[in-house]
Amino acid sequence: MIFDHAMFASPAHAPYRPTFDLAAVIAGRSRLTDAQFLELYAQADLLSLGRWAGAVGQRLHPEDYRTYVIDRNINYTNICTARCTFCAFKRNDPTAADAYTLSSEQIYAKITELVKLGGTQILMQGGMNPALPIEYYEELLRGIREKFPGLHIHAFSPPEFVEFARFFHLPVGEVLRRFQQAGLATLPGGGGEIFSERVRQRISPGKCSGEQWLEVMSEAHKLGMFTSATMLIGHIETIEDRLDHLRRLRQRQDWALAHAPAHYTAFIHWTYQPANTPLDRKRKWHPDSGAPYAFDNGRTVRLADANEYLRMLALARLYLDNFTHIQSSWVTMGPKIGQLALFFGANDMGSVMMEENVVSSAGTTYRLSEEMICRLIRDSGWVPAQRDQYYRVLRRHDGADAPDLQPRHPGVFPPRQHRITAAEAAAYRRGPGTTAAIEFKISAPAGRQSAKL
Ligand code: SF4
Repeated sequence: MIFDHAMFASPAHAPYRPTFDLAAVIAGRSRLTDAQFLELYAQADLLSLGRWAGAVGQRLHPEDYRTYVIDRNINYTNICTARCTFCAFKRNDPTAADAYTLSSEQIYAKITELVKLGGTQILMQGGMNPALPIEYYEELLRGIREKFPGLHIHAFSPPEFVEFARFFHLPVGEVLRRFQQAGLATLPGGGGEIFSERVRQRISPGKCSGEQWLEVMSEAHKLGMFTSATMLIGHIETIEDRLDHLRRLRQRQDWALAHAPAHYTAFIHWTYQPANTPLDRKRKWHPDSGAPYAFDNGRTVRLADANEYLRMLALARLYLDNFTHIQSSWVTMGPKIGQLALFFGANDMGSVMMEENVVSSAGTTYRLSEEMICRLIRDSGWVPAQRDQYYRVLRRHDGADAPDLQPRHPGVFPPRQHRITAAEAAAYRRGPGTTAAIEFKISAPAGRQSAKL
């Protein structure tokens, strides 16, 4: 399917009416086709898209709550063989002053802090560091399982597994099986970016192909490991590339649901954050130019703003009819757009992250405490609820002890928005060893016990 830019030429003031039975799509009686997806992208206004996707979200999640998870994003190494042009986090030279690999003890210390604050899982990802043997990972996983029984280990994205297979001279399935035996529970969807090879070759040299990414996830599903799926927008991709990405996810999910004991639990997309990245040196496409954006071999970047993020969220909710959960991406879009996402098809606010190093390296410095995430959900009309990685509710916050209902002083409630200060962001970028001073503060409600893990 080729996107016909002439579709933009519809009369400017004529209200758009879908040329197909959109009501059947919203009701779950038919599946959005590629042509219908492109029609909606080209012609539907933002708020109509939100209304339709919100109706799908409400059909799939009629419950009175919306969820979040408390975890810690541990980036165990920043040494990486890949050269992603959108990445400000990696160090290719292991002897660089700010290159690092965390020891098991350092990782245990981070998890101890998480557990004290009521966190239930870690999201552990790294660069692809060829110096680390398989024993580093297996011993780390076993150590975490022994020291923190009940903690959910959500770790290692498909590009890492493809490189593990190469580094350890083992099939991907065998590495997955050994890691699973050592304690790995589920896989994050990192490294998905955009599956299209023409894009991937430009923005992710040295990283696995889109098909390899999908194949790793299918192997994990065969082994009973649930995974998430991601998409990175707002760089050099076109709408056809995004559609291709979603189509491949939908097809793989169909297969997993029919043939495997596990599948994708959630879809998350976010926008490219340009600061400090090589890709930021490319020229930028301006929407006011009047010319449609077209792929030009990666020479021009089309950044995605809040409008583009929300449009894609709504379209993903309409298209991915076999994905139960969609997360809001407040980390890149900020708390207000993150909140608005709940009305555009997202049903989950993602993670209260104690620590995040990758996106913050690229200049995005939003942070939200548990109380602020709860307030954003409650202000939107739902009860905030903490969940686990399988989206099971651990704790509904509809009582007086809810994190966001604790006045600090009579009549003074927690702020609704917060950004990391410039000093905190600078400390973040100085790397490990300095993070303790600027890690996100999460208030642990009275009576919360780490033993519930
Ligand atoms: S995005 Fe990940 S794989 Fe790519 S260079 Fe950065 S750390 Fe390496």
